[in-house]
Amino acid sequence: MLATVRRTTDSRQGCDFCNQVRAQWRYPCRTFTRTVNGRDDVRLVLAGAWHACEPCHRLIGRGQWGRLRSRTLKRYQELFGTDTATVTAAMSEQLNVSWLGFRENRTGPAVRLGGGTHE
Ligand SMILES: [Zn+2]
Repeated sequence: MLATVRRTTDSRQGCDFCNQVRAQWRYPCRTFTRTVNGRDDVRLVLAGAWHACEPCHRLIGRGQWGRLRSRTLKRYQELFGTDTATVTAAMSEQLNVSWLGFRENRTGPAVRLGGGTHE
């Protein structure tokens, strides 16, 4: 089974890390797949560039992945009320797998949306 995460156009793009409504940075990235819940028969396709809001971009730039994870989990809890230890642990695992893939497949520096300035 394959599921594809589709990207919308830059101007309406949300943050791929914390789900903030408005992303300000784009990271060039190869399309890659990742496992879901450790199952090799179910793979999620992460297609092309990733987008980040300003706070996430700063954390990524400093390599503060633990803080980025805390930020993202907090945002998810606010949005979806998923505030149990089990859900949080499962989500942490999914984020780790996705972000590891992102780090392995990223192809260049972040570009500011609309401006074209590199980081
Ligand atoms: Zn963000």
